[in-house]
Amino acid sequence: MRAQVLLFPTITAYGRLYCAPRRLHRYNSSSSLFLNLSLSRFSGGLFFHMESGTSSSGKKAMVENLKRYGVISSKRVAQVMEALDRGLFVPAGSSAYVDTPVPIGYNATISAPHMHATCLQLLEDKLQPGMRALDVGSGTGYLTGCFALMVGAEGRVVGVDHIPELVDMSIKNIEKSVAASLLKNGSLSLHVGDGRKGWQEFAPYDVIHVGAAASEIPQPLLDQLKPGGRMVIPLGTYFQELKVIDKNKDGSIKVHTETSVRYVPLTSRDEQLGGF
Ligand code: SAH
Repeated sequence: MRAQVLLFPTITAYGRLYCAPRRLHRYNSSSSLFLNLSLSRFSGGLFFHMESGTSSSGKKAMVENLKRYGVISSKRVAQVMEALDRGLFVPAGSSAYVDTPVPIGYNATISAPHMHATCLQLLEDKLQPGMRALDVGSGTGYLTGCFALMVGAEGRVVGVDHIPELVDMSIKNIEKSVAASLLKNGSLSLHVGDGRKGWQEFAPYDVIHVGAAASEIPQPLLDQLKPGGRMVIPLGTYFQELKVIDKNKDGSIKVHTETSVRYVPLTSRDEQLGGF
C-alpha cells in the first residue's frame, strides 16, 4: 500500500478516518452520502484542481496526481482516464477533477477518481481489445465508458443500473463523450435492471465490476464470470472491503482483499430510494 503512505499519512490508519465529516460515516442506505471511495486512499480532494465543467488541464492534473501517488501505474489506464472526460459525467457545477465522490441524485454517487483508477488497474489485464465486461451499478456510465474504450469496437461492454433516470443520464453522458461511437455501433450498451442478476445476454464476461457494496457475492455474477475472468466487488455493509475474485480455468474461485472502501449498497430500488 505505497499510496497510503504517500498520499495522506494522517488518515492512513483506519480509525483516523473517523475524523472525516460526520456524514461520511453516518451510514444508512437511504441517505445521500459522499461514498464510493477507498478508505485508505481518500485524499479529501485537497490536491486536485478545483474546477467545474470540463477542462483539459483539470483532467490532466487529475491523472498526473493519480500517477504520482501510485494509484495509476499503467499507460493504458492513464490514457483512458484522460480520454474520457469526467467533467461530462458529473452534475453541472460539481468539481469534476477533485478526488472525491460526487452525489448524482437517487442516493447514488459517481465514485472518486482514485476508485475508478484502482478498479481499472485491477481489471486492466482482462480489458484487452475484443474482451467482454459487465458493469453492475453503472451510475453515470463513466467507468462503463472507460471499459468500452479499452476493449474497443470488437469488444462488448454492458452497464446495468436499476434507476431508469440514471441509465438515461448515462446514455446522454456517453453520447457527448469519446465513447459515443461505441454506443452507436452496439459494442457498448446501458440497461435498466437488477444488477444482482447480472446480464445474461452477453455472458460469460472477462470482467465483472460491481459499483455498489453487496452483503455477499450474488451467485448469478459468479456464474456469468468467464473461467480466466476477474470480478471486482465491494463486500460488506458498514465495514466494506474491495474483493478481487479470479475464476480459474477449472471454474474454481480465488479471492483476495484489495483495500477497505465505502460504497453505496447494492440493494433493491425501493430500498435505495427510501426517503428520497
Ligand atoms: N460506478 C458508478 C457508481 C454509481 S453508485 C459511477 O461511478 O458512476 C452505485 C450505483 O449502483 C448507483 O447508481 C445505484 O443506482 C446502483 N445500484 C445499486 N443497487 C443496484 C442493483 N441492485 N442493480 C443495479 N444497480 C444498482
